[in-house]
Amino acid sequence: MALIRCAECGKLISSLAQACFNCGAPTRKAGETVQIQLPDTEVGYASPFPSRSASVMNARGQTLWAGKHGETAAFTLKRPEQVTVDLGGFADPVSGVVAPGGKYALTQESGAAGNAAYQITEINFDD
Ligand SMILES: [Zn+2]
Repeated sequence: MALIRCAECGKLISSLAQACFNCGAPTRKAGETVQIQLPDTEVGYASPFPSRSASVMNARGQTLWAGKHGETAAFTLKRPEQVTVDLGGFADPVSGVVAPGGKYALTQESGAAGNAAYQITEINFDD
C-alpha cells in the first residue's frame, strides 16, 4: 500500500483512500486526471446543439464524464486511451487519444456552425 500526501492538510494517507482521514478532502490521484475543455456553443434557433449536453466515452463505450458545453470534462485514466467526445446535436463525435495528466481542448477545425468539425488538441490552460 502506497502513501500519498493529502493536498489539503499534508498528512500521509493511503493511496487507496477515497478521502483524507484527517480533513476529509477527497484524494486526487495525481497525474491520472485528464481534462478536456469543451466549446461554449451558442444557444438559439440556429444552434446545431439544442441541448448543449456533452459526454466523453472510452473505447469500450463506458461514459467517463457527462455535462454541458462550455465545461471542462475531467476524468481519470491509468494509461493513454482513445476517447470519444460527443457534443450531441448534429456534430460528429470526436475521437482522439488522451494521456493521464494531459490537458486538452476541443477546438473547431473547420466548418460553419451547422457542420462544424472539431478535434482534440493538447493545450496548457490554468485550472
Ligand atoms: Zn487532509
